[in-house]
Amino acid sequence: MLIVFIGPPGAGKGTQSERVVNYLGITHLSTGDMLRRAKTEQTLVGKLASEYMDAGRLVPDELIIQVVGERLRQPDCQRGCLLDGFPRTLNQARSLDEYLQAEGRPLDVVLELHVPDDELLKRLLARRRADDNLDTIRQRFVDYKALTEPLVDYYQDRGLLRRIEGIGSPDEVFARIQAVLDAI
Ligand code: AMP
Repeated sequence: MLIVFIGPPGAGKGTQSERVVNYLGITHLSTGDMLRRAKTEQTLVGKLASEYMDAGRLVPDELIIQVVGERLRQPDCQRGCLLDGFPRTLNQARSLDEYLQAEGRPLDVVLELHVPDDELLKRLLARRRADDNLDTIRQRFVDYKALTEPLVDYYQDRGLLRRIEGIGSPDEVFARIQAVLDAI
């Protein structure tokens, strides 16, 4: 089972990702978590990524594509994987397609967690993280709209997209996701 999870910052993707991977028994591949770990451990990837992350900007496609490609090859990703935070650009989505096609592993579904903008901003301002301040939040929104939202149409065209309304309690949102997953 291979799933892509798309959603703007503050949509609750992290919380729901945990539930999805537990429900399906698949691996959680969060590029944000991987990059934060790389930054803490001061690996080469971490050093290359940190200035972008601190500014709330996307790291270059080539860097993240390489990181994800290596991760997908690891044994724990063979039984299934939830891609959380990747792809985030059309370029990344096309690379992923090429990679999966070469491996003969098609995507099963793309979940889009949808939350209205005013609600997102409210949630983000209530959350505290090192890279959360007004400027970085704004930047992440701008990038999401400009670079990541086009993926919704991209996957819609391929018949893979399922939109989940992200308003309500975590249990209510997960129940919607579960209904989609059970129908696959
Ligand atoms: P996240 O926790 O998913 O919001 O990711 C934290 C930060 O890591 C982002 O603000 C980006 O700087 C970087 N990042 C994570 N995933 C990607 C990606 N697919 N493409 C580019 N940058 C990414």
